[in-house]
Amino acid sequence: MTAELKKKSQAIEFITKAYIDGKFVDALSGKTFETINPATGKVLANIAECDKEDVDVAVAAAKRTFEEGVWSKLAPKERKYAMLKLADLVEENAEELGIIESMDNGKPVADAIHADLPDAIETLRWSAEAIDKVYDLTSPTASDIVSMIVRKPIGVVGVVIPWNFPLPILAMKLGPILATGNSVVIKPAEQTSLSALHFAALCDKAGIPAGVVNIVTGFGETTGKALGVHPDVECLSFTGSTEVGRYFLRYSADSNLKKVMLELGGKSPAIVMDDVKDIQHAVEQVAAGILFGQGENCSAGSRLLIQRGIKERFMKALLEEFAKWTVGEPFSDDTRIGALIEEKHMQRILSYIEKGKAEGARLIMGGERLLSETGGYFIGPTVFDDVTNDMTIAQEEIFGPVLSVITFDTVEEAISIANDTIYGLASSLHTNDLTTAHQVARAIRAGTVSVNCFSEGDQSVPFGGFKQSGFGGREKSIHIFDQYSELKTIWIQLV
Ligand code: NAP
Ligand code: MG
Repeated sequence: MTAELKKKSQAIEFITKAYIDGKFVDALSGKTFETINPATGKVLANIAECDKEDVDVAVAAAKRTFEEGVWSKLAPKERKYAMLKLADLVEENAEELGIIESMDNGKPVADAIHADLPDAIETLRWSAEAIDKVYDLTSPTASDIVSMIVRKPIGVVGVVIPWNFPLPILAMKLGPILATGNSVVIKPAEQTSLSALHFAALCDKAGIPAGVVNIVTGFGETTGKALGVHPDVECLSFTGSTEVGRYFLRYSADSNLKKVMLELGGKSPAIVMDDVKDIQHAVEQVAAGILFGQGENCSAGSRLLIQRGIKERFMKALLEEFAKWTVGEPFSDDTRIGALIEEKHMQRILSYIEKGKAEGARLIMGGERLLSETGGYFIGPTVFDDVTNDMTIAQEEIFGPVLSVITFDTVEEAISIANDTIYGLASSLHTNDLTTAHQVARAIRAGTVSVNCFSEGDQSVPFGGFKQSGFGGREKSIHIFDQYSELKTIWIQLV
C-alpha cells in the first residue's frame, strides 16, 4: 500500500507560492527558501520567502474583506456551507495532502493520512456545524430595558504555527476563526509550509472569498514577527515553543495590544499506580503517549511516574512494547516512527540524551541516531531509568521519542512530582481505583488529565495549558467561539 503511495508522491506538483488575496504569488523580493524531506535530507521544493512587505499586503487584503463583510457579515448558514464544502474537499484530497505532509515533515505516511487528516477534517466540520447553533444572550433587566450581549468577530486574526502537526493545528485555528467571521493571515512553520499551501487552494475552491484566508510563508524572525507587531492584526493565535510565545506577548505590548493566545510546550507526566489491572493496555497507552509522532508532540507523556510495586512487571512489558515501534522510512508499511523534523532538532535530542547520561540517569534503551545511511534524521525509542525530577531530562521539553522514568511510593509523592514543572499542558493516570482517579485528576495542574488512556479528548472538549504551557484561552470546544469574538453589550432604554 505504501509503495503505491510512494509512486504517487513522485507525481505531486508542489504549490510553492504564498497565497495572498486569493492568488498564489511570489514574495515581493523574489526570494525563496528550501524545504527538505527529513527522511532523506534532500531538498523537496523552494518556497516563497515572505517578509514584512508581503505580510502588509496580506493583512491589508484581510482587513479589506473584513470591512467589506464578504465573510464577516455573511449569514451564519452561508459560512457553514462554505466551510462544510472545504471539509469535503479536504477529505477528497486527504491522500494527497497526507503524502505531502509525510514528505515535508518525515512522519509515517499512514499517520498523516489516517490520523492527521481525519482530525483536521473533523475540526473543520465541527466548527462549521456549530456556526448557526451558538446563540447570543440577553441579560435580566428592568422592564424598560432591553439588554443584548452579542458576539462580534474580532477582525484580522494572525496565526503562527509549528511543524509537528501542521494540518491539524492549522484546522484547529482556522475552523473557529472562520466560523466566527474573522479574516485570517497564517504563517506556517518554515519546515512544513507545503500542506498549508495545498490547503489554501481548497479554500479557494470551496468559495471562501479572496482575501479572507491568506498564507504567508517564511521565517519566524521576519514573517512571524511582522504579524506579531502589525497594527491591523487584532488577535494573534500562536502554537509553538514557550520561548517564542514570550515574543508574541512583547510584540503585542509594543504594538497595538492585540489579543494573544498561546499554546506552548509541555513536560507531561504519565502516572501508573500499583493497582492497574490491565497492564498491557496501560503499557500501550504510555508507549503511544511518548512515541506517536516521533515524540514531537506538545502533550507527549514524556515523564513516566511509576509506583514501585508494579515497576518491574510494567517496565518489562513496556520495553517489549517499545521494541514494536519500528523506526523507518515514512513510506514503508511497518514504520511507526518516521524521521525527525530536521538535523538541528535531531542533534538537540541527542544532546539531551548525553545530558541525561552525564547527570546520572540510566539509559536502558535506544539513545542513538539510526538509519544515517538514508541521509534522514532518525532516533528510535529511548528510555532512561533512575531519573529524578530535578534532572534536565525531567524538566525540559525534549520533543523526541525519549522517556524519563521516575519511581514513586505514595499518591502524594506522585502528585508532587507531576506538578513540579513549569509546564501544565497534559497528563495521564492509570489506576483501577475510582477515588485515586478523582483525587489525582483534581490535584494535577494541567489543562487535560486523561484517565486510563492517553488522550486529548475530541472536538467537544477544550485543549490548552496551565502555567507556562499556555496563555489567553483554550483551543477546541464551544468555548473557542468566545475567544475569537468580541463580546458587545447593547443596552437599550425603552423611552
Ligand atoms: P517554535 O520554534 O516556537 O516555532 C513555532 C512558530 O513560530 C514557527 O512558525 C516559527 O517560525 C515561529 N517563530 C519562531 N521564532 C519566531 C519569532 N522570533 N517571532 C515570531 N515567530 C517566530 O516551535 P516549533 O519548534 O515549530 O514547535 C515545537 C514547539 O511547539 C514545542 O515547544 C511544542 O511543545 C510546541 N507545540 C505546542 C502545541 C500546543 O498546542 N500546546 C502544539 C504543538 C507544538 P519558523 O518557521 O521560522 O521556525
Ligand atoms: Mg520539510
